[in-house]
Amino acid sequence: MALADTGHAASRARARMVERLRSQGIRDEKVLAAMMQVPRHQFVQEGLSYSAYDDTALPIGFQQTISQPFVVARMIEILRAGRELGRTLEVGAGCGYQAAVLSYVAQEVYAVERIRPLLDRARENLRTLRRPNVRLKHADGNLGLPEAAPFDTIIVAAAAAAIPQALKEQLAPGGRLMIPVGTNDQRLVMVERQGAIFRESRLEAVRFVPLLNGTE
Ligand code: SAH
Repeated sequence: MALADTGHAASRARARMVERLRSQGIRDEKVLAAMMQVPRHQFVQEGLSYSAYDDTALPIGFQQTISQPFVVARMIEILRAGRELGRTLEVGAGCGYQAAVLSYVAQEVYAVERIRPLLDRARENLRTLRRPNVRLKHADGNLGLPEAAPFDTIIVAAAAAAIPQALKEQLAPGGRLMIPVGTNDQRLVMVERQGAIFRESRLEAVRFVPLLNGTE
């Protein structure tokens, strides 16, 4: 049975997912509440909706994946530590799941995606949620989103060989950038901007699809 047909079953599965996130160490109640709000089963292909609340990445077509719930929660929790997310850029919107989660914790969300059909799907998926503070754009996120910069928060959902300079430059003072870096061995890197200084911290090992160039 597809979870999509059964709102009640979906919300029970989601509550179990949130309890699992807690047991995995996610502590930020606002993040947990956001993860409880977003119907992840509506962001995966129908045939996969039964696994929508498992802690795994799932295919969304075009060789891309919807990110693992734990990693989404963890990245946002770290970015939020001691501050609000404010004006936020997401690079790699995919099916729009993380943008939806971010919309419950950030003031404004700008999400860019390089594959047009995926962006269209994200738009469709987000429409039913009627989030007033999310804007989607078909663009190469290596360049950031100059027309909406600077950002208090930038979160990248694909792994870069090196941190794109434009993303650093589009951070507001006090802003934070979270990006997976590496090819085979990837690690989350957080960059914090303090005036002209960019402080980098290397965090946990992760596995993301690659950050590519250009749009299609
Ligand atoms: N945020 C998504 C994860 C999608 S996977 C979620 O909530 O599940 C990462 C996405 O990044 C893919 O859709 C891929 O097409 C996109 N991507 C890769 N390189 C990109 C780039 N340079 N600019 C924008 N999007 C990019």
